[in-house]
Amino acid sequence: MKRSATIPTPAIPPTNGHLPFAVQAAEQTRERADQLAETAREHTTSHSARAVAQLDANQAAMNAAGLGSTTLDEFFNVVRKQVAESTDPDGTLGAIAQLIISHCAKTDACPIYRDCDQTGPHYDHSGFGLLKVADETGQGTLIDAGMVALSGRKSHATVCLGNAEFDNAASVRQKTAELRVFLNHVDQLADRVFTDHQAHS
Ligand SMILES: [Zn+2]
Repeated sequence: MKRSATIPTPAIPPTNGHLPFAVQAAEQTRERADQLAETAREHTTSHSARAVAQLDANQAAMNAAGLGSTTLDEFFNVVRKQVAESTDPDGTLGAIAQLIISHCAKTDACPIYRDCDQTGPHYDHSGFGLLKVADETGQGTLIDAGMVALSGRKSHATVCLGNAEFDNAASVRQKTAELRVFLNHVDQLADRVFTDHQAHS
C-alpha cells in the first residue's frame, strides 16, 4: 500500500492562558542566547581591560627605564586602541607581540645566508637540521639536512645531508636523485617482504 505523502500536523494543545510549549521553548532559547551574549561581552571587556592595564604597566616601566619618547607614546596609543576595539583582546595583544618579536629576530638575522640560523654578529655560519624526516617513533631523526659556511681564508659553503657533506649544488642533486630511486626501491622491498610474510603466515 502506498503511504500518504502528507504527515498529519499534531494538534496544538489548548494554552489555557499559558504560552504553547514551542513558543515557550523559543522564548527560553532567546533569553539564554541573550545571557550568553552578555557574558561574552563582559568577558571580552574584562580581558580588554586587563590587556590595556598590561600595556599601561609596560609603558610605565619603559618610561621609568628612560626609554620614553613621543614615538613610544604614539605606539602604545595605537596598540591600546587596537586591543580595546578587538573582540579578542588577548589574541590581538599576542599577535602584536609576535610581530614585534619576529621583526626583532629578522633585523638580527644573518645578513649573508638565508638558511643560517645564527643571529647577531658572527663569523661562521650554520643551520643544522633545517630539514628533517622523523624516525618511526616520531621522536628521533631518520635523516636531516642543513648547511655550514666558514668565512675567512678557508671560506667555503657546505650542504649536509645526513652525515654527508657537499660543496656544490650539482653534487647535492646527484645524491638526491640517487635517494629518490633508492626510496622507490625501499617501497618495492616492503611490498615483497610483507607479501611473502602474509603468504606464509
Ligand atoms: Zn650567518
